[in-house]
Amino acid sequence: MKERRSVNASLFRSFILSLFEDMATKRDYYEILGVDKNVSPEDLKKAYRKMAIKYHPDKNPNDPTAEEKFKEAAEAYDVLNDPQKKARYDQYGHAGMSGAAGGYGAGGPTMDDIFSQFGDVFGDDSPFGSFFRGANGGGGGRQRVRRGSDLRIKLKLNLQEVANGVEKKIKVKRHVTCTTCGGNGSKNGTAVQTCSTCQGTGQTRKVVNTMLGQMVSTSTCPTCNGEGKLVTDRCDTCFGEGRVLQEDVIPIKIPAGVAEGIQLSVGSKGNVPPRGGVAGDLLIVIEEEEDADLKRDGNNVVFDLYVNFVDAAIGMSVEVPTIDGKARITLDPGTQSGKILRLKGKGVKELNGYGRGDELVHVNVWTPKTLSAEERSLLEKLRNSPNFQPKPNKNEKGFFDKMKDFFHG
Ligand SMILES: [Zn+2]
Ligand SMILES: [Zn+2]
Repeated sequence: MKERRSVNASLFRSFILSLFEDMATKRDYYEILGVDKNVSPEDLKKAYRKMAIKYHPDKNPNDPTAEEKFKEAAEAYDVLNDPQKKARYDQYGHAGMSGAAGGYGAGGPTMDDIFSQFGDVFGDDSPFGSFFRGANGGGGGRQRVRRGSDLRIKLKLNLQEVANGVEKKIKVKRHVTCTTCGGNGSKNGTAVQTCSTCQGTGQTRKVVNTMLGQMVSTSTCPTCNGEGKLVTDRCDTCFGEGRVLQEDVIPIKIPAGVAEGIQLSVGSKGNVPPRGGVAGDLLIVIEEEEDADLKRDGNNVVFDLYVNFVDAAIGMSVEVPTIDGKARITLDPGTQSGKILRLKGKGVKELNGYGRGDELVHVNVWTPKTLSAEERSLLEKLRNSPNFQPKPNKNEKGFFDKMKDFFHG
């Protein structure tokens, strides 16, 4: 899957040779970025950004000079941005950076190395961050950055959080770039060799004769597992993996109106792949906690209100729970069981919309299940009273019509 752009000198070149070549041809890192020795990390980043944008291969297609400058700037930034490397460079110059002392071989950084820095330099949210990510991710012969796996976690929300949206801090264990080796997995950053089986492409090719003529089949290189490089002297911190497991607290904003099973993604907060690349995403799968009182029905919530027969007949004022606390409602005298009262705008906010559902209060008139002798004799007196005889008129809607009104009205 990987294509390597311009690895223009072999990393097998000997230490001495690269040392001489480096000293003879390399420009001063400070000069390349146009900064002085006391530059602040912020200004250094700014200076590098300017160069990276100016000489980016996408802006200068088919211009090898621009690509060289682009790589030169990346190398200079990589050294000056690392306090240890910078100190070595300040003391020994390019000689301090070569071979066993650390830094890049004569070939300089690969495009892989450069693009994997961009998340830090441009920020994931900046237009340049996505510009560069998009530029590499698209394929079409362009250098591709390896992407780590996504992390998936479940997040339980109560009804109030679902209805109004909420900000959460989520603890996750994720693979992050090893800071000891900068992600390449080798001690001192030096012991990385281009895989000789695949010459760094990560793929092996085989020409097969078929009825249709010769065809080239490619497969992942078995020596380096498609990474194109091999670590010979492993970093003690990450044991050559280039990444370590770390517990992170990640703040996230859950929009109002999410529902069970909805998946939200936080860019670049997943795992980084082994030995360099960009992080995958953090995926958050929503689970809804059942509310003790309120049931959700789309963007509406439903509350079952139980009242006794006397309250329903005489009428009353009663408190009902809502998502945002209690609300007082009035039952008219003669309220029938099954009546549905609508509290406008007391439901769940629409996901990605401006609307909000309602709360539907479903009135249930409670019929006593047991009666004392006294209660029984009181009711007996009312049994044949004229107003107690059911007389539903034409306008009195039965269950079926009420449901029809609600869902189609
Ligand atoms: Zn390491
Ligand atoms: Zn290989």
